[in-house]
Amino acid sequence: RIQRRAIQCRHDIEALNSSFITIFKSLVPAEEEKAKQKELLLSLQNLVTKEWPNAKLHLYGSCANSFGVSKSDIDVCLAIDDHDLSKSDILLKLADILQSGNLQNVQALTRARVPIVKLMDPDTGLSCDICVNNLLAVVNTKLLKDYAQIDERLRQLAFIVKHWARSRRVNETYQGTLSSYAYVLMCIHFLQLRRPAILPCLQAMDATYTVTVENTKCTYFDRVEKLHAFGARNKESIARLLWGFFHYWAYHHDYTDDVISIRTGGIISKRAKDWTRRIGNDRHLICIEDPFDISHDLGRVVDKYSIKILREEFERAADILQNDLNPSVTLFQPYVP
Ligand code: ATP
Ligand code: MG
Repeated sequence: RIQRRAIQCRHDIEALNSSFITIFKSLVPAEEEKAKQKELLLSLQNLVTKEWPNAKLHLYGSCANSFGVSKSDIDVCLAIDDHDLSKSDILLKLADILQSGNLQNVQALTRARVPIVKLMDPDTGLSCDICVNNLLAVVNTKLLKDYAQIDERLRQLAFIVKHWARSRRVNETYQGTLSSYAYVLMCIHFLQLRRPAILPCLQAMDATYTVTVENTKCTYFDRVEKLHAFGARNKESIARLLWGFFHYWAYHHDYTDDVISIRTGGIISKRAKDWTRRIGNDRHLICIEDPFDISHDLGRVVDKYSIKILREEFERAADILQNDLNPSVTLFQPYVP
């Protein structure tokens, strides 16, 4: 077990709260952005229905999970049962359909890790990626959105963490750092572990929502309106939580043995998951279990170089929150190579 350094939080932490709340508010998208997204989704759905009457488009990712900052691209999933066409053929045909509508820069990327069609809508100015039958992503989008409704501190924490990760360039999966989705799971995990807890573990409660997608049974308690007071006994402010979040990832998380798991509401061991060895490109240097696809480690993009960068950034953030005179500025200073 690693040595757990018990650092006392700075005494003036509460004084930092209002500036973090201001930053959070500046990142939240305006209502008219949501309206534009809906408008684009409707016009895409109309085009698709003409060709495939039973196909349905779903929003997923940050435009639907309530963790989206303003001006993000929108992620759409085409749900379609067409057993005669391969995924690539569906994407190529989809690109044709969209090209005939009033859309620009339509491009089918059939060889990408997640194959998509990209497009730009000149009416709304929005860019959009459409994938095919990636329904687990639609379900994990709903899970994140449901968690966000339980306690407002989750969105505050996650927006600030995502903003920090983008500023510091540690939100780039192709460079070996973590996805936005992974950061939100890290925030949920952290709030589940607070005492008193700020978030429950929805997958450990009696199921009110069950779907089976891609042979995976997804089930959890989704009547979150009944949980609005769940975190009320915990009075920690966002500044205090942010401090705790970075201290956890800098000095308390056990990178050798631990897997964080919002599915179970706690830590499980790498041994129990057989994530102790490198297999192929999966190195398991920081382990974040996907809540539904439990064989999937969201940290698998991290390699021996990027783990060092990540941990140094967690330490930098923890130390700034502990000592800096102006953390709400210094924390987000752009990374300069
Ligand atoms: P943003 O676009 O603001 O950075 P996002 O939440 O849209 O954040 P993306 O990386 O665009 O993040 O991912 C879109 C969605 O795809 C996620 O919300 C999640 O549902 C799903 N997703 C992304 N990466 C993974 C992954 N490695 N495994 C499973 N699902 C993923
Ligand atoms: Mg996105």
